[in-house]
Amino acid sequence: MEEIDGACVVCTEESAEVYQDSGNDRYKVICPYCGDYLISDDASRTLASSPITNIRQRTNARSWVRENRGLLIRVEDLGPLRTLRTPSVAERAEKLLIAIDKTYPSIGAELTKRLFTGNPAQWCARSWSANPAELSYLLTVYMTKTKGWLLDSDENFTSTMHIAPNGYDHLEELRLGGADRVSGFCAMWFNEEVAAIWTDAIKPAINAAGYDAVRIDGVEHNNKIDDEILANIRSSRFVVADFTGERGGVYFEAGFAMGLGLPVIWTVREDALTEVHFDNRQYNFIVWKPEDLPELTKRLQLRIEATIGRGPVTPQAN
Ligand SMILES: [Zn+2]
Repeated sequence: MEEIDGACVVCTEESAEVYQDSGNDRYKVICPYCGDYLISDDASRTLASSPITNIRQRTNARSWVRENRGLLIRVEDLGPLRTLRTPSVAERAEKLLIAIDKTYPSIGAELTKRLFTGNPAQWCARSWSANPAELSYLLTVYMTKTKGWLLDSDENFTSTMHIAPNGYDHLEELRLGGADRVSGFCAMWFNEEVAAIWTDAIKPAINAAGYDAVRIDGVEHNNKIDDEILANIRSSRFVVADFTGERGGVYFEAGFAMGLGLPVIWTVREDALTEVHFDNRQYNFIVWKPEDLPELTKRLQLRIEATIGRGPVTPQAN
C-alpha cells in the first residue's frame, strides 16, 4: 500500500495518514480521531465531494468509526453514518469512564491530565466530544465534581487524576446491570434464503444457553435503524449478528451494540465469509453451512456460554 496525500474523509482531519490499496479499490486511513479504518474508493469519493458538514454529525461519525475499528466503510454505509444518534451526556461520560479504565487498568493508576490536554484527539473521539472543551467539561465538571467518578489532585489541570472509589463502584454497576439482562438479540438478513437459521439454529442456541431470543421481525429496515431495535439491543445481554447477505442494518446494529460494550457474536454462511466487510481477522466468526444447522446451533450455544456465561432462563421444550 502506498501513502498518498489526503485528509480523513470522515472527519476531515488533515494529519491523518491515507494509504491507497489499489488492488482492492479502497483506502486505509489512520486518523488521530477515527482510528484505523478502510473505505472503498466509491465511498471515499462520495464523502470527499459531500463531506459531513454538521459538526455534531461529524463528531458522531468519527467516534462511531473509532468504536468499530477495522470497519470497511462502503457507499451504502454513508447514510447511517451521517445520521447517527448523539449519545446523552451521561452515556458519553460512561463511555469515557470505561475507556479510561481499559487504558489504565491498575487500580488507582495516575491519569496524566496532560494526556487529555496535550493529545486530546483520541479522548475526544472516545467520549463523542466535538472539541477539547467538551472533553474537559466531561472530565472535570461531570465526572469529577458532579459524579465523583474521578479524583482530582489539584485544580490546575496540570497534575494527575485517578478513578475514584465512586468511579469503580459505577463501573461495577454497569457490569452488574448487564448481568441482569436475560435476552440475546439477533441481527440478521430478513430473507427466505436464511430464514431457517433463526428458527432452526440461532433461536434454539440462545434458548439452550439460558436466554430469551429476541429479533425484531418482518420488515426489511432499509438501513434505517429504528428506535424499537435500538431499545431492544440496549436491554439485551449480548447480540448475535449474522452477516450473510451483507445487510447495512446488521453492521450498524452490531456496531451500536459494541458501542454500548455488549458482547457481539459473529456468524456468517461459509460462502459469504469473504464478502464480510469488517476486517474479519479481528473477529472470530462462527462460519456455518446451510446443510449442517445443528452444528451452528451447538457452536453458537457453546460460544454464548463461553463468552457470556449461562443465562438464567429455563430452556423451552420444543
Ligand atoms: Zn478521522
